[in-house]
Amino acid sequence: MQFIDLKTQYAEIKSSMDRRIQAVLDHGQYIMGPEVQELETALASYTGVKHCMTVSSGTEALLISLMALGVKAGDEVITPSFTFVATAEVVALLGATPVLVDVEPDTGNINADLIKAVITPKTRAIMPVSLYGQTADMDAIQAVAEQHGLPVVEDAAQSFGATYQGRKSCNLSTLGCTSFFPSKPLGCYGDGGAIFTNDDALAQVCREIRVHGQSKRYHHTRIGVGGRMDTLQCAIVLAKLEGFAWEIEQRIRIGVRYLELLATSPAFSSGQATPMTVRPDRSSVWAQCTVQVPARDKVIAKLTAAGIPTAVHYPCPIHQQPAYRPYGVGADLSISEKLASQVLSLPMHPYLDEKQQARIVERLNDAILSV
Ligand SMILES: *Cc1c(COP(=O)(O)O)cnc(C)c1O
Repeated sequence: MQFIDLKTQYAEIKSSMDRRIQAVLDHGQYIMGPEVQELETALASYTGVKHCMTVSSGTEALLISLMALGVKAGDEVITPSFTFVATAEVVALLGATPVLVDVEPDTGNINADLIKAVITPKTRAIMPVSLYGQTADMDAIQAVAEQHGLPVVEDAAQSFGATYQGRKSCNLSTLGCTSFFPSKPLGCYGDGGAIFTNDDALAQVCREIRVHGQSKRYHHTRIGVGGRMDTLQCAIVLAKLEGFAWEIEQRIRIGVRYLELLATSPAFSSGQATPMTVRPDRSSVWAQCTVQVPARDKVIAKLTAAGIPTAVHYPCPIHQQPAYRPYGVGADLSISEKLASQVLSLPMHPYLDEKQQARIVERLNDAILSV
C-alpha cells in the first residue's frame, strides 16, 4: 500500500507526460521556455486570478510574495504556529518576526478570531495557511485585514484546487502561493510553485524579484532571487493538469468515504479519536486525510506492522522548534501543541480503492482500541 501513489498516476498519464517532456527536450529552452507562459496562463484561468507567476518552489513563492510586499527587518507577519516550517521561515529569513497565532481544533487552520488582538503598528501582513487542503475562514481574515489596511498572503501549498464559498484557493487574498512539490495535490517531478495576484503592480514586482530583481536584462531595479521554475517542471504540471479535475473528484469521494467509515468505527464514534473536519462553505482537495488519535506512536507502530503507511503533519508546532522558540513566548498556542501531539495522516491519493480504505480504518480502529 502506498501513502501517495505517484507511480499509478504516471502510468495513467504516461503518453501525454512523455510527449510533454519530449517537447521540451526537442526545443531545448530549459529556462523560461514556452511551457512556462503556457502553464501560467492555464493556472490563472483555472483559479480566475489575473496574474500567475511560476517560481522555483512553494517556499520561494512565499518569500517572493513577502519581499514584494516590502516585508523587512523589524516588521511582523501574523501566521499560525501549526504549519510546515516554511511559512514562518520566510518571515524570519527577511529579518521580520513571525507572530504565531493558535489554530481551530477541528480544521487545524488559523483561528481568525485571535488575529485582531496581535495586530500592532509593526504588522505588515497576515499569512493564513490552507492546511490539509482546506482554506481558513478567508472572509473573516480579510475583514480584519481590511480594517487595518493589511495585505493577506494565503499559503495555499496544500490547497490548490480547493474552494471557499465557491471561489478558488489562491484567489481569496492579496497574494496566493502554492507548491508543486511532488506529494502536493498538483505536483511536478521536482520543485516548483506559483504566486497568484489580481494586483498588476504586485505581479510586476514578483516577476522582477523572481529573476534577480531585473526589470530588463542586466538592469537590476531591486534586490531579487534566482526563483524561476524550470521549463521541464512546468511541462510536467501541464501534463498533470489535464487529469486534475478528475483527481480532485476522486480525492473528495475518498475523503468523504473516509469520514463515513471513521464515523461508524467504535474508536471514533466513542470519541476516543476524531477526524479533522471540512467546513460546509468549503471544499477540500484532501492533500491529507488527518485524524487525531491518542498514543500516536503506538498506533503508528501497529499500523506500520500491518503494512499501512502513515505520516505526521506536523509533529512539532513552530514555536517549539529549536530555531523558532523565541517567537512563541507568552502566546497561548495550546491547540497547536495538542494537534502536533495527536495528528496522524492516512494514505490518500486518487487511486485508493474502497477495500484498502476499509482495511485502513479497521486496522486504525483496532490499533486505537488496543493501546
Ligand atoms: C509544502 C509546503 C510549503 C513549501 O512548499 P515547497 O514547494 O516544498 O517549498 C509551504 N507551506 C506549506 C503549508 C506546505 O505544505
